[in-house]
Amino acid sequence: MKKYDVIIIGGGPAAIVTGITVRKFFKDKSALMIKEEADGLVPCGIPYIFHLLGNDAAKNKMGPKSFIDLGGEVIINTATKVDKTKKEVTVKKGEQLGYEKLVFATGSLPTIPTFIPGYNMQNVFYVKKSYPYIQELAFKIGNFKNVVVVGGGFIGAEVAEQLAAVNANVTLIESEPFCFSKAFSPELSLIATNALKNTKVNVMTSTLVKEIIGKNNTVKQILLANGNKIEADAVILSIGYKANTQLAKETGLELNRYGDIHVDNYGRTAIKDISAIGDCAQTFGFLTGRSDVIKLASTATAEARTLGHNIFGIRIKKCTAGTLGVFSTEINGLAMAAAGANEKNAEESSVEVVSAKFSSPDKHPGSLPGVSDLTVKLYASPVDGSILGGEAWGGKSIGEIINIISLAIQKSITVFELVSFQVGTHPLLTSSPVNNPIIRAAEDIVYKISYS
Ligand SMILES: Cc1cc2nc3c(=O)[nH]c(=O)nc-3n(C[C@H](O)[C@H](O)[C@H](O)COP(=O)(O)OP(=O)(O)OC[C@H]3O[C@@H](n4cnc5c(N)ncnc54)[C@H](O)[C@@H]3O)c2cc1C
Repeated sequence: MKKYDVIIIGGGPAAIVTGITVRKFFKDKSALMIKEEADGLVPCGIPYIFHLLGNDAAKNKMGPKSFIDLGGEVIINTATKVDKTKKEVTVKKGEQLGYEKLVFATGSLPTIPTFIPGYNMQNVFYVKKSYPYIQELAFKIGNFKNVVVVGGGFIGAEVAEQLAAVNANVTLIESEPFCFSKAFSPELSLIATNALKNTKVNVMTSTLVKEIIGKNNTVKQILLANGNKIEADAVILSIGYKANTQLAKETGLELNRYGDIHVDNYGRTAIKDISAIGDCAQTFGFLTGRSDVIKLASTATAEARTLGHNIFGIRIKKCTAGTLGVFSTEINGLAMAAAGANEKNAEESSVEVVSAKFSSPDKHPGSLPGVSDLTVKLYASPVDGSILGGEAWGGKSIGEIINIISLAIQKSITVFELVSFQVGTHPLLTSSPVNNPIIRAAEDIVYKISYS
């Protein structure tokens, strides 16, 4: 039986980054990745296969090449059993492989709404992170006239926006009053929903799907809770993701109340030498430390780096306990992003915040061609002024503006410090130094805390 220092089960971002980190920092340690599908996808790129990437899944391929380049080994197979006493993994073909350290990076699977009759009919699809499945969906989807996407989170909205460029009638159904409401404040959810409404997508909010109606087991219509019916040749159900933990359960790993693998701040389970990271593992709220559910590639890879460095014993203290969800998207040319607290999730968790926002053009002067308005909204503690959250919307620079805000949250930077934040500016690249929206929003909060 072949034995490895580290075996990683999975082939997504969490598995790849764990493998890279281990091989980079522990060159004398052998590492094997067991992944069930030969080709992988950049998960975040999946919506763009349907239009921007020309309906070609091959343009969105992702694989463990950098891990292999560093001397890692990969086998394409499914891990079916773990013997935690003998420290062995059995794969589908029956072979056994020994490990010193084992990592579960088995990810997540789309939630299947078995409570909606018709959920398993022909032409009902899911946004699976599977290359062959998405490739086949991409081939088929262009043939349908009426496509209904159920679920107005990031994934459903991004898929609907892309399909609207391909299919004649695309309807998005969301049960909440606004799309994106799990990640954004009510103000930004409204802006985002309107951005989607300005595309060809027919957006139906505050609307519940009751049944998927078909003929000869093929979808024909959607029955809504209000009794109305919508024509549908294809349905894409995008209502969330559940941790893929069957093997973890069978191994005897503890799961939390959301069904995620219970781990500590370093990704270690209660069973010695077994860790879990990424979508299959538990997350804790950054501010509250409470168990919550954040399933993002960005957080999965951060967890993977932490685990990779510390897998043979804690060497680098994790400086931030807790997961900060940083969400960004672009709909109809409008970039939008959020990190940490907003007025809605703060109220839900009984967190006090004071907020302010500031808008300015993202170039200066604002008369330059290609200018976009850039709005930053900051949320801070009303007592010590530390940044607890932020949102930003406007042009492409939002993608990195939110990362500055994320760093400010992670390092507990206060609005008082941001007032003297030193930034670089250039007419073609940034807002004016007079009106940097992060600094101006911080100043407004300073005023609210100290002078009003
Ligand atoms: C359409 C879409 C868009 C997204 N956009 C973003 C975004 O913009 N930004 C962002 O941060 N996040 C985004 N996400 C979320 C992100 O994709 C996930 O958080 C990320 O994929 C998690 O990585 P992971 O490695 O933990 O799990 P996964 O990507 O789910 O990978 C798990 C892997 O394990 C393999 N596996 C499972 N069980 C076994 C087994 N027994 N044996 C062998 N292999 C096994 C699976 O085949 C799979 O390859 C998006 C997700 C989707 C679906």
